[in-house]
Amino acid sequence: MGGGHPYDGRPATTSAYPNGSALTDHRDEAVVVGGGFYGLRVALFLRQRLGFRHVRVFEMLDSVMERASYVNQARVHNGYHYPRSILTAYRSRVNFPGFVDEYRDAVVDDFDHYYAIARAHSKVNARQFELFCTRIGAAWRPAPTPIAAMFHPGRIERSYAVREPAFDARVLRELLLDRISRAGGIDISLGDEVSSIAALPDGRVLLEASSGSYTADRVVGAGYSRINVLHRSSHLEQVALQHEISEMALVELPPALRGLGLTVMDGPFFSVMPFPSRGLHTLSHVRFTPRYRWRDGSGQPALDPQAVFSMADRTSGFTGMRADVIRYVPALAAMRQVDSLREVKTVLAKSDLDDSRPILYRPDHGIANYTCIMGGKLDNIYDVLSELEHDSVSA
Ligand SMILES: Cc1cc2nc3c(=O)[nH]c(=O)nc-3n(C[C@H](O)[C@H](O)[C@H](O)COP(=O)(O)OP(=O)(O)OC[C@H]3O[C@@H](n4cnc5c(N)ncnc54)[C@H](O)[C@@H]3O)c2cc1C
Repeated sequence: MGGGHPYDGRPATTSAYPNGSALTDHRDEAVVVGGGFYGLRVALFLRQRLGFRHVRVFEMLDSVMERASYVNQARVHNGYHYPRSILTAYRSRVNFPGFVDEYRDAVVDDFDHYYAIARAHSKVNARQFELFCTRIGAAWRPAPTPIAAMFHPGRIERSYAVREPAFDARVLRELLLDRISRAGGIDISLGDEVSSIAALPDGRVLLEASSGSYTADRVVGAGYSRINVLHRSSHLEQVALQHEISEMALVELPPALRGLGLTVMDGPFFSVMPFPSRGLHTLSHVRFTPRYRWRDGSGQPALDPQAVFSMADRTSGFTGMRADVIRYVPALAAMRQVDSLREVKTVLAKSDLDDSRPILYRPDHGIANYTCIMGGKLDNIYDVLSELEHDSVSA
């Protein structure tokens, strides 16, 4: 956005950069492609920490943080979720205090969270889960008797009380936009899609966007599910990504359960987590949440996840989710579906095996000064920022 108002809630203001007239000619110009949580936080980092004089964020939608950064399970990961990937779990433990501190006004910690281990079909048993928690330094205690009694004794081996808050994505957005506004020197161009990037002979990067052509000394691609769409149009190598059209049911729980989050690990199970932005809970299920799955790269068909998403079947898997969930927690029979949240969930193809969530960080990906990033979850942001800092120090 132009006019010294980095974000004022208005729809697209691409007129601030009229078609073809904004070919910038100064140094110290950085561009971020994508205005999700990652794009906005990286823009702040480029401006405040790495000292770029001006940072421009391109977001193709009419508002920032509307895609995966809003439509997700809102879990502030504290490690428990990744018993098969000790590195992912450990990084979450390391990043957790920083995230909770930096976004404390968006962190919702007013509910009791319980993890439970199923007796059958689980990839970990209770003993292994406890050992894993000890190894990553994540505290747990046995769930109190009334909670443990909520779980079907024949189907759940053991249940645990843990601390794992949720975040309110709308508050998070306001916090970031406020910081961007106060930092100055960051413009957000809404309704503005970057269609291609190319190397210039002087080492800068040329971008074609809906609003015109731009150059930048540094470009960071943070388009999440659409990373490869930009790579294809720019004749750059595809990243091996796996996409899933995901459905999380938005449910209202019976009053007695409203202050709870419940997660059954680690297999074809489910999770019921508060979704603070809507004052409801999300219900996600390993078998029913993924509605359609495909891969990018290594000879796979080139699809635009946004296009797949807009054509995807909108029937709900809630009935199947509910039928399975109440076998484990009968009291959830009284929950009521209010809505469903749908989004493309994108992970590195290799994460399919161990459910890990490493960051994608590719400096100079086919073009000097173009860095491609993707975070597997929000707390990974610190891993991306430390890589950016490392690169800038060693450059
Ligand atoms: C169902 C689901 C559940 C999840 N649960 C959790 C959870 O509980 N906890 C957690 O921490 N993480 C969770 N995640 C992961 C988390 O949501 C993502 O890691 C994170 O939101 C990625 O942020 P982002 O900014 O990269 O992506 P996004 O928020 O999707 O932002 C990317 C932006 O780029 C824009 N864009 C793309 N291409 C272009 C272009 N060429 N030009 C301009 N703009 C472009 C898009 O419009 C979009 O706004 C979940 C994800 C999903 C989908």
